[in-house]
Amino acid sequence: MSSPHVPTPDEVDALRERYRVERERRVRPDGTRQYLDADAEFGYYAADPYVGEVAERAPLDDHVDVAVIGGGFGGILAGARLRQQGVRDIRIVEKGGDFGGTWYWNRYPGIHCDIEAHVYLPLLDETGYVPEWKYSPGEEIRRHAVRIAEKFDLYSGALFSTGVTSLTWDEASEAWIVATDRGDTFRATYVVSATGTLTDPKLPGIPGIEDFKGHTFHTSRWDYGYTGGTPDGGLSGLADKRVGIVGTGATGVQVIPMLAEDAGHVYVFQRTPSSVDVRDNRRTSAEDVGADQDGWAARRRDNYLRIVSGEVVEEDLVDDRWTESAGLLEKLLPSFRRPGDRSDFEASYEIADAAKMNELRERVAQDVTDADTADKLKPWYRYACKRPTFSDKYLPAFNRPNVTLVDTADTHGIERVTDNGVVVGGTPYELDCLIFATGFNVGTSGIFSGKLPVYGRGGTELLKAWRTSGPRTLHGCTSNGFPNLLLMGSLQNASSVNFTHVLDEQAVHCAALIAGAQAEGALVEPTREAEDAWIAVLSEGAPDHEWFHAECTPGYYNGEGRGRRNGPTAYPHGAHAFHAYLKQWRAQSLGSVLRARTVTRTS
Ligand code: NDP
Repeated sequence: MSSPHVPTPDEVDALRERYRVERERRVRPDGTRQYLDADAEFGYYAADPYVGEVAERAPLDDHVDVAVIGGGFGGILAGARLRQQGVRDIRIVEKGGDFGGTWYWNRYPGIHCDIEAHVYLPLLDETGYVPEWKYSPGEEIRRHAVRIAEKFDLYSGALFSTGVTSLTWDEASEAWIVATDRGDTFRATYVVSATGTLTDPKLPGIPGIEDFKGHTFHTSRWDYGYTGGTPDGGLSGLADKRVGIVGTGATGVQVIPMLAEDAGHVYVFQRTPSSVDVRDNRRTSAEDVGADQDGWAARRRDNYLRIVSGEVVEEDLVDDRWTESAGLLEKLLPSFRRPGDRSDFEASYEIADAAKMNELRERVAQDVTDADTADKLKPWYRYACKRPTFSDKYLPAFNRPNVTLVDTADTHGIERVTDNGVVVGGTPYELDCLIFATGFNVGTSGIFSGKLPVYGRGGTELLKAWRTSGPRTLHGCTSNGFPNLLLMGSLQNASSVNFTHVLDEQAVHCAALIAGAQAEGALVEPTREAEDAWIAVLSEGAPDHEWFHAECTPGYYNGEGRGRRNGPTAYPHGAHAFHAYLKQWRAQSLGSVLRARTVTRTS
């Protein structure tokens, strides 16, 4: 960043007040209850548009060594790491018609991953693949998921278009009974739950949403049959259509420029503007990323994780707006060193944050010609309150005559949907097509959604038990009373913007536990004491982010404005340190979670 203006204390005070006012405009009393699940009468929004006719098959009641729930990167990585450990008998169960998870479902026009491809795509060293773009289009990522699945022979035994409906621990056979929506009731000695954190689409609970008679769908189930075109554009079916899109988060920012190019007219219904930073996507060569060196991808990914975890490193290999923002404080206030006094740190951070957000607001003013539209597109909150987005096409799209920005902040979103459009502030907008870019139920898929009950020892139901005690795990991975169940996701471990890296480390961990247990003919189950000790580690030195989120504009980062934490949820020293910790624990203490079986299995 070139010589940023360091805001004065008065400017920071004024911003704080502006942020408070903007937040008040958006907080709703119904918080997270404002959304609808895309099921039951809204199940249409979550149906699989890519699979065509699902082939009939007989229900299974056999036994496998490992069942993996979910065929996104979490499940694929678990499968690959299990294979590397020599585990042969693996069955991945996936709702979609193929592997890919997020990248199977999300195929909307303009889809790209905004994390650099060379650190986001996992197992590049192992597959020998070198991404073609700095930021991959979705299809390149989906194909890479398939590449990994093929290389590690994960198609054999996989069940697609199949949802797991319950897990029941059978004490007699010391195995899980896995029930599915295809009538299966097979047994698995170990179960890995890898159902993702942004899986189930959600809809805004706008009054009358069920009345709309035009065409409608969620971005994660794009209907190319209606729009024409491909993820690269050419949406010829929209040429004469009035298209409304609700949602201007990371998805909306990628979709809207594509709609703008092809649709007759686009109405963008915005509630909170995203921060939109520079994208600068470009083709890359193997040479650019040093892909001729052994282990290049692992080194690059590690370097990235260190930087976005807040470490100061000698070299920034990725060198993009994510890594720049992570190092912002250093760049803006070079003399700054984290002091003992937290309030000093927070004051410095607030100044750096204000400078960054000023830069992004200035970008809006430069790129959008109409001053009123530009004003509405400016984000008024701290940088980390909402997920940052990146695009060089989004803001200029609002200069087109066929694009209208409709700001809905004062009415807390769209007032109502009618049979032929929507109403905002008393003004009706007639639409042929209404697209929801309204995101997903965050962190609540699979066994955390309440729709996939898990009955452990003595029939104890996992979520019920945790409602009383709070979530209890060792490393976010295993839980007492639920033997041989391994959890992947973002509970009581450490997360990162580069989520595939986090998943890969979890996969390595799960695979080591399962292989260790298989070698010993043992069960994997931590003691209550080990869980207590882990929760104490999470609590010690856990940074208090509560106040920060409480002051943020509503969104899924803060439970729609209500704060979101319920007990310590993350390793306080960041993802990089967590991975090192786990590695050491595996070397020294893995045996502490193995328990003798009472039933002998030979398979
Ligand atoms: P988000 O949950 O981030 O955004 C939902 C959008 O819908 C917000 O703009 C929200 O407004 C808006 N909205 C919800 N209800 C209403 C309403 N009643 N009226 C008007 N607007 C409404 O979903 P996304 O799909 O954009 O992104 C989800 C996540 O997926 C991202 O945060 C990111 O983690 C991931 N993602 C990653 C990408 C990548 O490149 N790596 C690309 C795309 C997504 P408000 O902000 O006011 O709530």
